[in-house]
This record gives sequence, structure tokens and C-alpha cells, in this order.
Amino acid sequence: MRYDVIIIGAGPAGLSAAIYSARGALKTAVFEKAMVGGQITVTEEVENYPGFEQAISGFELTATMRAQAERFGAEFIEEEITAMGMEGLCKVIEAGGKFYRAKSVIICTGAHPRLLNVPGEERLIGRGVSYCATCDGALYRDKTVAVVGGGDSAIEEGIFLTRFAKKVIVIHRRDELRAQKIIQERAFRNPKMEFIWDTVVQKIHGETRIEKLELVNRKTHEISMLPVDGTFIYVGILPSNELLESRIDLDTGGFVITNEYMQTNVPGIYAAGDIRHTVLRQVVTATADGAVAAWSAEKWIIENYDSFEVESAKQ
Ligand SMILES: Cc1cc2nc3c(=O)[nH]c(=O)nc-3n(C[C@H](O)[C@H](O)[C@H](O)COP(=O)(O)OP(=O)(O)OC[C@H]3O[C@@H](n4cnc5c(N)ncnc54)[C@H](O)[C@@H]3O)c2cc1C
Repeated sequence: MRYDVIIIGAGPAGLSAAIYSARGALKTAVFEKAMVGGQITVTEEVENYPGFEQAISGFELTATMRAQAERFGAEFIEEEITAMGMEGLCKVIEAGGKFYRAKSVIICTGAHPRLLNVPGEERLIGRGVSYCATCDGALYRDKTVAVVGGGDSAIEEGIFLTRFAKKVIVIHRRDELRAQKIIQERAFRNPKMEFIWDTVVQKIHGETRIEKLELVNRKTHEISMLPVDGTFIYVGILPSNELLESRIDLDTGGFVITNEYMQTNVPGIYAAGDIRHTVLRQVVTATADGAVAAWSAEKWIIENYDSFEVESAKQ
């Protein structure tokens, strides 16, 4: 099977890339190994994607993106891509025991927050357990929230949460933060922020919503309960980069390095969305990346395939 563009991953980045690519009359296939829509499908209320005055569910938002891409002819293939040959002009993709060829590939495999891996956590995601203050912070106006972690993201997001929450309690496993000093100082000066040191969360309690955190002090082994309305977990974000060979340049965190055209170091291969080395991981940035990547892929196909006369760029 031959395509102009193969997109790996049908989260917001892949869906947007598919809309732009298919609308540009490129033969486009989008591969998805789990759920079309990506990470955002678990979110009940997306309040910050432009164009929706009222919150929209992540599922509904991305289902509409899919319908939009299909209207322009994008093909969705619900298979995991397990191998990718990047050499030469023609890229070869393996999924479900079959081989697919493409002139250009856009990697939109996304990322996922590192979980604490404690009882109650996965069950209460979207019901008080969150990994994204930018996304969910505004839902906690005048509430008490906990932030788990001590690095830059945890403390910056904790400070951000004080705009809404009446109290932000940072729970950190050590007796000092890892965040940059300037960020720490801002946090210590903030009257809404409190700190619980040398402590880890060992269980998250709640039936239909989060109710309290079960904490254990690592030095005294004392167990305590902390009632909260929400908990934001920042113990790291992991790129979904298992597929990428050593040929794609990654940063130290494992995210794909691109230029402003979303181009990787391998000609004809682009990356968009959360998998990319970037400063903000949101639906709006993922869709913007996807649009740029599809535009760049089209330019690349026209330039290279016209000059090599392999096939018409537009089938
Ligand atoms: C709980 C939560 C709440 C959030 N709330 C908001 C919010 O309110 N507003 C906002 O703007 N952002 C929010 N975000 C962030 C937003 O979800 C992400 O920034 C966005 O989904 C990134 O899109 P993406 O397409 O780059 O990656 P993803 O959404 O991660 O999609 C990547 C897709 O690629 C697929 N994939 C991976 N590898 C393969 C493979 N080998 N073969 C086939 N498919 C593959 C995955 O299954 C996945 O579906 C939230 C995130 C979380 C976790």
C-alpha cells in the first residue's frame, strides 16, 4: 500500500496533520494503536481550546477532528506501527504484519505523564487526579489541592494553581526541592503554598471523586491522611518514542528535536505535538504543530518527488 503521507498517532497533532495533508490532496493514512483522539479523550472538560465558549469533552473534540479529516479523504488504520524504515526517499512502515510505503512520515506518537503507580490513581484520573494544571487548574477555584513532586514543573504548576485554589500543598519525597532557586523562592513567598517534606503518597482514596491522600513520612514511617479536592502529579513526562531508532535525534528527555518546519534530522520525516521537544504540551500547540508538519511534508514531496520523477506528488 502506498501513501504520500503516513501519520503515526491519531491524537490532536496527528488529526490536525491529517486534515491539512488530506485537504492538500495528498493520499494520507493515519495509524492509531489505541484510541483515536489520544490523551485528551480522557478529559471531560477542555476549556482552553479556542472556538468553544463552553467546555467540550476531549472525546467530542477529537471525534470532530477525525470526521473533518475523513471528509477530505484521510484513511484511518487502527493498528500499531511496530517498525519504520527511514532510509532513502521511500519510507517503509510495518503495522499488523503488513508493509506500507510513504513519501513522508509525520511522527505524532505523543507523550504520557509518569504515574505514581499507587492504588486509586488510575481510577480517579479526571476525577480529581490530574497531570496538567494548565488544563484543569481553573476547575479548582477556592479548593484545596495537592501537588506531588519537587522539580521545576511541579513548583511552577503549583504557583500557577494558586491563581485558583485557596491552598496548594506540595508533597515532596525529599527535604528540599529540585526546582531552580528562583522558582523555589517565588513558591516560598507565596502565602497560599504549603510544603510537606520527606513524604510520599501511598494511596489515593475516593469513591466517585478524590477524597483524601494517604501519606507516609519516609523518615518516621508515620502514616497520615490529607483531605484534598484535587491532586496534580508531576513526577515526570515520558515520550512515546519506543518506535524511533537511534537515527532520529532526541533531546536528553527522549523527545524528538525538530526545527521550525517540524523537520527531524532525517529528510522526509517530521514530528508534531507532545513527542516533540517543546515548551508547552497542549491540544492547541499539538494541532498547530500538525498543521506545520503537514505543510512541510507537502513541500518536501513536491520538491523531491518532482525532481526524482518517482511518482506524482498528488495521487
Ligand atoms: C489528563 C490530561 C488532561 C489534559 N487536559 C488538557 C486540556 O484541558 N487542554 C489542553 O489543551 N491539553 C490538555 N492535555 C494535554 C493534551 O492532551 C496533549 O497536549 C495532546 O493530547 C497532545 O497531542 P498529541 O497528538 O501530540 O499526542 P497524544 O494525544 O499523546 O496522541 C498520540 C497518539 O499516538 C498513538 N500512538 C503512539 N505510538 C503509536 C504507534 N507506534 N502506532 C500507532 N499509534 C501510536 C497513541 O495511542 C496516541 O493516541 C491534557 C493531558 C492529560 C493527560
